[in-house]
Parts: sequence; structure tokens; C-alpha cells
Amino acid sequence: MTQQPILQVRDLHKTYNGNQVLKGVEFDIEKGQVKAVLGPSGSGKSTMLRLMALLEPADSGQILLKGSRIGSREHKGKSVHLSERTLAIQRQEVGMVFQRFNLFPHLSAVRNVMLGLTSVKGISHHEARIQARDMLQKVGLDNRADHYPSELSGGQQQRVAIARALVMNPSVMLFDEPTSALDPELVGEVLEVMENLAESGMTMIVVTHEVRFARRVANEVTLFDGGVIVEQAEPEEFFTNPQHERTRKFLSHVH
Ligand code: ADP
Ligand code: MG
Repeated sequence: MTQQPILQVRDLHKTYNGNQVLKGVEFDIEKGQVKAVLGPSGSGKSTMLRLMALLEPADSGQILLKGSRIGSREHKGKSVHLSERTLAIQRQEVGMVFQRFNLFPHLSAVRNVMLGLTSVKGISHHEARIQARDMLQKVGLDNRADHYPSELSGGQQQRVAIARALVMNPSVMLFDEPTSALDPELVGEVLEVMENLAESGMTMIVVTHEVRFARRVANEVTLFDGGVIVEQAEPEEFFTNPQHERTRKFLSHVH
């Protein structure tokens, strides 16, 4: 018996001012899978993640989490967006980490991590602080809990951002080029946290330029281009025997 995929994306479309950015994105991801997404700039990767994180509505198509549709519903044959209240509940299931951390500058690290727990989950301040500290410890930042983002390195800020997403106990974690804004010497500490997370069984979609990370940690690699998935394969197959000319061309530029 095959397990139901934890996340299913069906025929997602998105257009901005006449610019068709997503042109029918389709994929499944199983629980515990780590999917690396490669692709040229402007191809729609961030848009795809924002739609999956329910930060923006799709024009059409479906996203199913554990078999249930999220983000929109069908009404009289049309896709209808859900209320902001329902979206807020569903968003807890999908953690997102951005290229530029997006921490609140006026809140300490622990306060940044606590915020979703107190404001969305309604957990008490006291309990939220315990859970947030625990999560900061898991990303190696227990001694930085009371520091403000400006007092932290980029690598530390990104680890706070990962802790902030994880503390909500999501079913899936989405990463949008999480190391692209970092100085080279800080990339490793973030990738290490992500690798540990993958080993712990988290389901992850990682948009990245880190080909070595994709090869070592992902169990599926995708080439995204022109608003669609061009190729999808196991890392070894993807990097050594790509089926599509577009993939061969892309890899010749990154290797
Ligand atoms: P990638 O992450 O692969 O670099 P993006 O998803 O950021 O690609 O962008 C894909 C295309 O969609 C680009 O042409 C970009 O300018 C456009 N785009 C993305 N977000 C918006 C937006 N909010 N409004 C208008 N155009 C957008
Ligand atoms: Mg992007």
C-alpha cells in the first residue's frame, strides 16, 4: 500500500499583470521527503513557495495537505479563496524560511520565535517562552535568545527564522534560498541545521543554488523553469543522467 502524499500540488497557475509566472505546477511530496528545487532567477520558484505557504492566492489549481485542500475551495465550479481566519489556521501547517530572514528588528530572538505561539496559537507567554527557548537550543542559539537581530550574524538570524517556523510544529517546511543572502563563511551553519532537520524526518522543499547540498541531502531534485517543473529525479540521476536538454544546459552553468 502506498502512503498518501503529505502535499499535492495540482495545476497551479499565477499571473501578475499579464505576466504568466506559474503555468501549471504539479507535484507530490511524501512525508519525510526532501525536495531540492533548482532553476534560473525569475522562473517562478519564490512565487510557487509563497502560494504553498498561503501567503498569496493562486489564480487556479489546488494545494492538498494530507489529502485536504488548503488555501481555496471549490464553489459552483469555481475556486474561491478562504477567509483570512481560516488561512491563518492553515498557515501553521506550512513553515516558510525566506532569503532575507524577515525577523522583527524590535524583538529579541526569543520574542521573534514566541510571537506565532502567543498570537496565532494562543499559548501563554510563559509557555511560549519555554518552547521558544527549547527551539533556539535546537538551532544552537540558546546563548543568543535575548539578542536583537541587529546583534546577530546573518547565519544566526537565519537560524532564528528557522526556529520561528519550526516552533509552530508545521507538517512541511519551505525554504526560499535560505543561504543566498549570507556571507560564504556563514552558509555552513545554516545548511547544517537544515541537514539535521532533514535527518529528523521533516518534509522539506528547498529552493537553493547549493548544488552540493541538493545532492547530499535531498532525495529528489527538481529543475524549475518558465513556470513549470521541467525535470524531477533522484539526485544521482538528476546530476549524472538528466533527461532534458534544458536540465543539461542548466547544470553546465552551475557546475
Ligand atoms: P524566482 O524566485 O524563480 O526568481 P519569482 O517567483 O520571484 O522567481 O518571480 C517570477 C516572476 O514573477 C518574475 O518575473 C517577477 O518579476 C514576477 N513577480 C513575482 N512576484 C511578483 C509580484 N508580487 N508582482 C508582480 N510580479 C511579480
Ligand atoms: Mg526567488
